[in-house]
Amino acid sequence: MAAKLIDGKAIAARVRAEVAEEVTSFGVEYRRAPGLATVLVGEDPASAVYVGGKQRASAEVGIVPFDRRLAADASFEQVAGELDALNNDPAVNGILLQLPVPDHLDGPALTNLISAVKDVDGLTPVNAGLLALGTPALVPATPSGVMVLLRESGVELEGAEAVVVGRSNLFGKPIAQLLLGANATVTVCHSRTRDLAAVCARADVLIAAIGRPRMIGAAHVKPGAVVIDVGINRISPEEAGNKSGIVGDVDHAAVAELASAITPVPGGVGPMTIAMLLRNTIRAARTQAELEEVRG
Ligand code: NAP
Repeated sequence: MAAKLIDGKAIAARVRAEVAEEVTSFGVEYRRAPGLATVLVGEDPASAVYVGGKQRASAEVGIVPFDRRLAADASFEQVAGELDALNNDPAVNGILLQLPVPDHLDGPALTNLISAVKDVDGLTPVNAGLLALGTPALVPATPSGVMVLLRESGVELEGAEAVVVGRSNLFGKPIAQLLLGANATVTVCHSRTRDLAAVCARADVLIAAIGRPRMIGAAHVKPGAVVIDVGINRISPEEAGNKSGIVGDVDHAAVAELASAITPVPGGVGPMTIAMLLRNTIRAARTQAELEEVRG
């Protein structure tokens, strides 16, 4: 059996088109455009590329990008001051602190300073807590993007066995909450899980977010399972067999023989992340505008 490829690029393009429409109607209603601020501390080239991508993608859907950069040796107080200014700027509806921050700074403590209604990464304790309580507000972009991929691909989650490999705050924990909310039976695996292959092989829906190139192979996959590969790992182009040198956490060629559907890397989960971030921003802008109306 050859698995159906889940086309993240096409689905992400649809989400972006919907966001562009929502931004237009927001403009008609409130006579302004939503704003998204990125905060980058230091000059890490990969982070600069990610921030640039978010800035461009915002502008493309009519969201005003704000680009804030601080020197690599910026103090905690300087970054906190920047976040505070953005929290109080009515033109800014979403704030992203690009992680990781340099080693001398406490990334989670800085993230916690972002106003919950502007936390479009969904990483503050308020938004993580609301998700855990089953009343999600702003949800991290990559897991909510995976939920859209599953829904658009017609995957039945109710009662399904879902196995997530990885328990990060950024992805593993929030996707587990979202799957539980969709009535799947959820197992979360990590580096201490005993007999990972046997646990994974129970899954109707297997989601890998590990950060280890091609770790999930045929032995981990039940025939007919849906496999979502969140991993982004850079190896040599020769080893990867593609120009970018990027591969996922799943041994795609081997697993595609068994699975009923699978996401490619690149072109699967990756494109969904920015699309969902834009969606979070327009939603945050709407919530803030409605709060302003209530407060008069
Ligand atoms: P992370 O914080 O490094 O977490 C990795 C998780 O994998 C941890 O829970 C770890 O277990 C587990 N793990 C590591 N080795 C394992 C093993 N041998 N067996 C079982 N579990 C193991 O990573 P992350 O931020 O969630 O990211 C995971 C991957 O997704 C990375 O490749 C990242 O680049 C990618 N990613 C992609 C997107 C996107 O837009 N597509 C977004 C976010 C992340 P312990 O907790 O026990 O250490």
